[in-house]
Amino acid sequence: MENNHNVTPLEETARKWLTDRGVTIDDMAELVYYLQSKYHDDLTLEDCKTNVDKVLTKREVQNAILTGIQLDKFAELNQLEEPLQSTISADEGLYGVDEIIALSIVNVYGSIGFTNYGYIDKQKPGILKKLNDKSLGECHTFLDDIVGAIAAAASSRLAHSAAGEDEDE
Ligand code: MG
Repeated sequence: MENNHNVTPLEETARKWLTDRGVTIDDMAELVYYLQSKYHDDLTLEDCKTNVDKVLTKREVQNAILTGIQLDKFAELNQLEEPLQSTISADEGLYGVDEIIALSIVNVYGSIGFTNYGYIDKQKPGILKKLNDKSLGECHTFLDDIVGAIAAAASSRLAHSAAGEDEDE
């Protein structure tokens, strides 16, 4: 983590839970690269990592991560009540609350995040494909949308800073 800001317990937990659920900063940086390399010559994976790191410092992002992962974990352990247990463990298409939570992340760097989020959610490259693999017995109904949203937000931030804008404060 390259940030020199004070890492709060909330941020520390959000980062740890992502890792525990099999998602690394590198995985998310690769999604950003997938989305942005065609628009920026000389884009490096390191640039992508820096932007992912910045997104993870946002409180609304940390809260979305914890809320989504908590529900995924309960669903995996069969500890939700019906009908929610079946809905979330089956990742039912009409449920939609997973996408709504993800949108709170997509929003943090403005509306161009929406386009990126929609695109990556359809393509499901890299870690997103793995998270959507239902054969592993894991539940990532919320996490796949959250990870896609973090990549989309990091892409927006990258685009804004390439345009010479400082998007943080
Ligand atoms: Mg989902």
